[in-house]
Amino acid sequence: MWLARFSRETKDAHIGAVALVAALLVAIALIPTGGADGFEANLRDGRDQLRVAPASGEIAIVEIDGRSLQALEKWPWPRRYHAQAIRELDRLGAEQIAFDVDFSARSTPQDDAALAAAFAEIGQPAIVPTFRQVNRAGELATISEAMPIPEFRQHTFVASVNVFPSANGRVIDYPNGIVTGGVARPSLVNMLARTGGEVESSFRIDQAIDPATIPRISFIDLIEGRVPREDVAGRRVVIGATAIELFDRYPTAFFGVQPGVAIQVQAAETLLQDRVRSTLSQWAMLAVAVVLLAGFLGHRARSSRGASSGSIVAGGVAAAMALTALVLDQATGPYLPLTAPLMFLVAFVIARRTLSATVDLQTERLTDTASGLLNRVAMSGALKRRATAAVAVARIADFGDVIMVLGATGLAEMDRAIARRLRLLTGVETVYRLESGVFAWFMPDTHAGDPEDAFETARTLFNAPFEIGEERFRLSVHFGSAAGSIADAESASELARKRGLSWSANAGALQEETQFRQRLLGELDDALANGAISVVYQPKLRLADGAIADGECLVRWDSAQLGRISPTDFIPILEAKGRIRGLTLFVLDQALARRDQAAVHGHALNLAVNVSAQLLSDGDFIAAAVGRLERAATGLGGITLEITESAPLVDSDTARSALERLHAAGARISIDDYGTGQASLNYLQGFPAQEIKLDQSFIRNLVADRKDQIMVQSTIDLAHALGFVIVAEGVEDAEALAILRERGCDYAQGWEIGRPMPWRDFAAMLRESRQYGAAA
Ligand code: C2E
Ligand code: CA
Ligand code: CA
Repeated sequence: MWLARFSRETKDAHIGAVALVAALLVAIALIPTGGADGFEANLRDGRDQLRVAPASGEIAIVEIDGRSLQALEKWPWPRRYHAQAIRELDRLGAEQIAFDVDFSARSTPQDDAALAAAFAEIGQPAIVPTFRQVNRAGELATISEAMPIPEFRQHTFVASVNVFPSANGRVIDYPNGIVTGGVARPSLVNMLARTGGEVESSFRIDQAIDPATIPRISFIDLIEGRVPREDVAGRRVVIGATAIELFDRYPTAFFGVQPGVAIQVQAAETLLQDRVRSTLSQWAMLAVAVVLLAGFLGHRARSSRGASSGSIVAGGVAAAMALTALVLDQATGPYLPLTAPLMFLVAFVIARRTLSATVDLQTERLTDTASGLLNRVAMSGALKRRATAAVAVARIADFGDVIMVLGATGLAEMDRAIARRLRLLTGVETVYRLESGVFAWFMPDTHAGDPEDAFETARTLFNAPFEIGEERFRLSVHFGSAAGSIADAESASELARKRGLSWSANAGALQEETQFRQRLLGELDDALANGAISVVYQPKLRLADGAIADGECLVRWDSAQLGRISPTDFIPILEAKGRIRGLTLFVLDQALARRDQAAVHGHALNLAVNVSAQLLSDGDFIAAAVGRLERAATGLGGITLEITESAPLVDSDTARSALERLHAAGARISIDDYGTGQASLNYLQGFPAQEIKLDQSFIRNLVADRKDQIMVQSTIDLAHALGFVIVAEGVEDAEALAILRERGCDYAQGWEIGRPMPWRDFAAMLRESRQYGAAA
């Protein structure tokens, strides 16, 4: 929720910070695990493959190879062969001679003496090995040092050749020297490379030195004199086993399985070529990644270029660090491990994406996607934080028309335009869009006490047209307000709209109305049965001769509980609930009965019954009405059905054919409230109606208003031209009646002639059939 209040950029910065901390925690948790080490080891092998280098050539191997083993007697060889070998090497000018051969046990006295003599004879001290041995005797394991036999130690250097393979069998770290029996001994490798090194410390063998490039001499070729001087002269030489049969072999990263002696030389070359590398810790690298990422993100937040994503920054940091690492690899500088920074940066990207998606979802939940305005959910959330705030609602009247004219994009633009104007008018920062055409905001305290002023001004200013694209709209708005409830404020605005008020703060009123409706519906059936619903009759004056032979049936409801209820209150409710059919048939039955009653007394009475337009698409109603009309078709008088004028009515084929059926069954059809809808008289041409009832609103100001007079005159003329009978309703005074008569209107209905009255009074009027105004 909290993120909803921030701009996109601020949101990004927050997400970035949270993701960075989350990623850091992940990295800190993962670095100490073996998985990270394993990953780094593989990564290092890969990187080493990019920096493969040849051996210097200064150190050669004299191989005790398969060929030599075959040529000479069975292993172990008589030591005179070794004596022969070193004499030959010395003769060929070897700079240094070293053995990777076990001399810790005695052989025959003659052979041992021969080798000892050779060691003494050659002009330089050779290097002989000592190595640790683990002796197992049952449960007991003792470590002993396998030193060369004393005779061999007199004219030689003793060096350690211990290697300590790691878990996967590979020899990676090589000891600089070890302490045996209290004596510190340098390693063979240190002696070959002529470097020092702290005893009991070790260095990492450069795995990228290619063992295949170490010069090799076969032992058998050497002692049989087939080796040319240039292969040996000036070189340091290590004699060791390379034959598979001798099992002294170790796996390497990408050079396959190599004999131990080759690993020794690889190690010596590492020292010789100065390829010992220091390794930075994962933690240091992690720290660098964090600092770089935080720095770039911070910089991005400060500069206005908010466009590049956090992922790109993370990728950039990763690339920069990897590139630095690779450059240092090539230059044999310090080794930079990359697992921790990569882990951190990947975790950052994932965390940021996840957070960002979550926040987007949240934002989507809180906004109307089309207009970008905050929605009802957002306002409800905001209301929870300020429970007693006064909520104001603006309801645009006739928004349906706007929707029809504007497409989806235009509508979103309209929503924004309305919100903008509301912000301006009310001085609030946030306007929420509750639904199509309904907006809300929190009323500033200054207005909450007395919203009248604020709403009135807002409503007036709202009248200025909105321009969306090519279209101009003049919208009218109704306001509602309530404390602490969006729904109540909405209800209030709905009430204002219904009552034609600019605003309403009475949230409870609509609820009362709803309860009232429920009660009405509940009582309707009883009311029809027990006579609480009755019919009154209003006379229609025929202006040509002043006779009264027509009337309109109007319902009255006298409820024991609710008092007299106006049809303008309950007819719309019945229509909305689909309960109008029964009532209408009830009135029709009354009308037919009264017509028959009048006929008995010799009066040809025509009674009008109001029919809601929706009943025209109600097949059951039409069938029932047609049935009743047909049965009563003969005899004096008749029935007129009044249908309120509206454009959809005129356009509807269903309505048209229903009216045709009703007319065929004997009813006259009258268009009620003519002039209030959108149907023009021309439009009504050919429509199955015989009568037009000019709405009261045209008659009300007829005496005073010239325009209304013109309007009434032209309607009368046109109606006649089209063959309609024309009735004026709401005739309240003699002047109006006189004008209508003068203008050629056919019938007049209104208080001046007679108010709606009970049958008894109406029947009396029929008998008298007074000639209204005829004398005037
Ligand atoms: P309406 O069909 O336009 O009926 C005329 C209304 O104008 C009646 O109101 C009548 O009392 C009133 N009126 C008559 N002369 C005058 C006058 O000189 N001045 C003024 N100011 N008013 C006059 P009422 O009886 O309240 O009926 C209201 C509406 O209720 C009717 O309007 C009609 O639409 C509806 N209604 C009444 N009875 C029925 C019915 O049985 N079925 C249906 N569907 N609707 C009905
Ligand atoms: Ca009517
Ligand atoms: Ca009317």
